[in-house]
Formats: sequence, structure tokens, C-alpha cells
Amino acid sequence: MLSPQNVRVHRDQRILELVWDSDQVSRIPFRTVRQNCRCAVCVDEFTGKQILNPETVPVDLNVLDVSLSGNYAMKFRWSDQHDSGLFTWDHLRQIAAQT
Ligand SMILES: [Zn+2]
Repeated sequence: MLSPQNVRVHRDQRILELVWDSDQVSRIPFRTVRQNCRCAVCVDEFTGKQILNPETVPVDLNVLDVSLSGNYAMKFRWSDQHDSGLFTWDHLRQIAAQT
């Protein structure tokens, strides 16, 4: 799995920046990351259907806390108090490709 060389959390712009290599950088709005959360609260574990209504995620969503999970994923504590999601590098790359 490709992991980023650098991760920047731009709270002022509400953007997560992932530097994969010198000419490949993903910039994903926090809200988009949060809307793609795959935790058991946001996605039905059995059907894979999204439970979260993405429209309910605040437009001004921010990050209260960020941590790395091993060397393969990131965890966020969002300003709407949601914190159960785990975002692998692959998942973040997928989210970036959609936006
Ligand atoms: Zn979630």
C-alpha cells in the first residue's frame, strides 16, 4: 500500500492535504472525508449501505484531533463529535479520486 510522504491538516481552509510524491498531491475537503466515513455508525456493516445522510454533515465541519493508526490509516475527531471512523491511505486515495 502506498502511504503519503506528508500529511497536512489545514484547519483554516478545512482541507486535508496528502502528499504522495513530488507531483501527486491530494487535497480533500474535511466535509468530503467525513461524508465518506465507513464506520459502523455511518455504513451498515451487513449491506454496505450508507446510513449517514451526507447532507447532515455540517458545511463548516472542522477537525478537533487527528491521529495516525499504525502506518496505514488516519483517525479524526470531527467538530460534530464523530470519531469512530478509520481512513486507510487507500480509502483516502479513492475519496480524492472521486472529488
Ligand atoms: Zn463514521
